[in-house]
Amino acid sequence: MVQNLLPANSTIDSRTTLKTASIIGAGIGGIATAIRLQIKGYQVDVYESASEGGGKLRDFAIDGYRFDAGPSLFTLPNLVEELFRLAGKDSKAHFDYEKLDRSCHYFWDDGTHLCAWSDSAKFEEEVSEQLKVPAKTLRKKLKHSAFQYNTLSELFMHRSLHKWRSFTNLKTLKALLRMPFLGLTSSMNKANERLSNDKLIQLFNRYATYNGSNPYRAPAVLNMIPHLEHGIGTFFPKKGMVDIRNSLLELAKELGVRFHYDSKVELILHENGEAKGIKTKGKSVLSDLVVSNADIHPTYHHLLKDLKLPVKQLEQERSSSALIFYWGIEASFDELHLHNIFFSKDYQGEFEALFESKTLHPDPTVYVNITSKCKSDDAPEGCENWFVMINAPSRQGGLSETEIVEVKEQIIRKLEKILKTNLRSKIKCEEVLTPSLIQSKTSSYLGALYGTSSNNSMSAFLRHPNFSKSLKNLYFTGGSVHPGGGIPLCLLSAKIIDELVEDA
Ligand SMILES: Cc1cc2nc3c(=O)[nH]c(=O)nc-3n(C[C@H](O)[C@H](O)[C@H](O)COP(=O)(O)OP(=O)(O)OC[C@H]3O[C@@H](n4cnc5c(N)ncnc54)[C@H](O)[C@@H]3O)c2cc1C
Repeated sequence: MVQNLLPANSTIDSRTTLKTASIIGAGIGGIATAIRLQIKGYQVDVYESASEGGGKLRDFAIDGYRFDAGPSLFTLPNLVEELFRLAGKDSKAHFDYEKLDRSCHYFWDDGTHLCAWSDSAKFEEEVSEQLKVPAKTLRKKLKHSAFQYNTLSELFMHRSLHKWRSFTNLKTLKALLRMPFLGLTSSMNKANERLSNDKLIQLFNRYATYNGSNPYRAPAVLNMIPHLEHGIGTFFPKKGMVDIRNSLLELAKELGVRFHYDSKVELILHENGEAKGIKTKGKSVLSDLVVSNADIHPTYHHLLKDLKLPVKQLEQERSSSALIFYWGIEASFDELHLHNIFFSKDYQGEFEALFESKTLHPDPTVYVNITSKCKSDDAPEGCENWFVMINAPSRQGGLSETEIVEVKEQIIRKLEKILKTNLRSKIKCEEVLTPSLIQSKTSSYLGALYGTSSNNSMSAFLRHPNFSKSLKNLYFTGGSVHPGGGIPLCLLSAKIIDELVEDA
């Protein structure tokens, strides 16, 4: 049966004998997949509905302040470097970054301030001084996090969970034997309660927000995440986060990938159980492979309307969204660094609001990212570019104007109290990104930052696979499919596709 294929008034692009791939979306997953498939020998065309690539990973400037609009935390830079290496290029010449000497500054309402140093001895000293927690407690916690990461990351991050062959190797078998020690049955918070210090528990619970989850429900295996920061490190691209996009786009173009901007894909064409191409601007374009980097929800609901929906996967709870205020600040703050967290006094209540009642909590945890601390030309002299973010619920209709105005007041009051300053008078310009704007700009269903959440122990298995079970030659990359959201995992989704696809 012919479905979605070659509408009557359409034309077909003339094609060479090269095998071809069409990619829907130039988010980080789409760009990385394009690079890998082009290297594999495909002629790759990327169709992007926006006028630029990057999706959530983009930047903008106002009044002399530059802002990375989306991701701000950079981990596992080796995954970016790997793409340059595959292409036979020296990555340092195209993409440069530095390792940070600290991962984050944490602030609490009672005046406690803690710097999470990258150097483990310094971090232990800081925790014992500020929180009165013995160094060995922290050491044990980070050792266990490393054990979880080293045992599970290969299976859960680097392989398809939907192919038997992923489970039939020595490393996986070893991981399966260690399962009883990995925390599959309790929640992150339950496991972290062993730290016996409320502030340290809160600090470690925060890692659930790395993929937009709730630490009071997410499985304790997510406690492997701190190893990324404290075992491997946090990094900053010297030209800003947007350089991850810029350098990879440049690499893709050099390899011969063709990017088509302002080209929204309307349908995925298929026939007799095989993907055959895409339709954009009323024109059908045939290709041997199709990869969707669009969120899995609109991919099925809009581009594959005539296909049976994978209901269970599409019904998985979405990750949290966010509300971001980009402020040009006419002042500088020595106590702040690149990443700063101002904790809520009621962390559990905040997550209940986000995931149960789908509301904003009156005392939200506030994240302030200031890239001008590392890249001074991101703000005028003596000034700072503040990216001020709170987690927000992923819900139909987004946030109301009243909610945004009210929470902005709460954020300012909280920051003014902790930083002992009149912040309001220092805000010289402002842009705002809401959950609805995240959805409209990147097609992310309900404005979720990371696709689906990891709020139950089966979440990893219920995320959509990187390939279609009903259409041959159709693949999926990016934050809404396996292995999940965040730049490193999107890059890994491209790597998994690379392993699934035959050479051209
Ligand atoms: C505010 C914010 C903060 C974040 N913080 C971090 C962080 O600190 N660290 C981190 O690692 N990650 C972070 N993330 C998550 C990270 O940005 C995402 O996981 C990642 O960038 C998603 O990439 P993606 O490949 O899924 O594509 P996306 O960025 O989702 O892009 C998808 C692209 O597909 C295009 N598209 C959709 N439908 C169509 C269509 N029909 N036709 C053509 N094009 C289409 C869209 O226009 C878009 O460009 C953050 C995200 C946000 C929004």
